[in-house]
Amino acid sequence: MSTKVLVYNDDKENMELYYLQEKDTMPYVTNGTLTVGEFRGSSDSPTIWTNRSVMECWNTLRERWGKPIGVKFAFKRIWEGGHGSQSQHYAGTAMDMAQTFTNEERDQLRILAEELGCWEYVEPAELTPVWVHVDKRLTPPACEAGYIKLALGSVNTNVLVLQDALNTLGFIGAGLDGIFGPGTKNAVKEYQESRDLDPDGVVGCETWQNITKEVKGTGMTDTTIL
Ligand SMILES: [Zn+2]
Repeated sequence: MSTKVLVYNDDKENMELYYLQEKDTMPYVTNGTLTVGEFRGSSDSPTIWTNRSVMECWNTLRERWGKPIGVKFAFKRIWEGGHGSQSQHYAGTAMDMAQTFTNEERDQLRILAEELGCWEYVEPAELTPVWVHVDKRLTPPACEAGYIKLALGSVNTNVLVLQDALNTLGFIGAGLDGIFGPGTKNAVKEYQESRDLDPDGVVGCETWQNITKEVKGTGMTDTTIL
């Protein structure tokens, strides 16, 4: 069984599609340092996604560290649950690594990750002492530490989180391609109407908070697109 891998190419501003095996290297990763199996971690999803710039940032970190860095948790579908309701792991832009390292090694890796400047966020040791969380979130967030505002024409990995959530909640027609088209807009409006939110078809802070809270960890449904 191959895995469908969607990659948002930040340079070309489009979504790319790959079909890969578990042992294959993730797209844009050099020297075989991160496989599909490692990136999916505990997720059972037949479809996964990320950004090209996340993979390139990994390349830089791994190259500068100069030794293997184990990644135990990266991608997760929002209905599979995991961290909080608006985790960057659901967007495929976060990685939890270095679980087997000593505290001192993890401190060194956090310092290196900060120095590189290509990650938007390196979680402090006080919050996650036994692994190193780094992510390359899109900015500016619609809510604090959340996803960006989305509207007709948006193309990115946050759109995939939105489409995945809408499909799973039964607001079908959104697709699962990372492209906010008319079908996604209709599904958003239907959701907003059903929840007494302003049905403007735009996903800002309030709509994000409602959707993500509702769908986090619910498990897949009949309308989830796998
Ligand atoms: Zn994390």
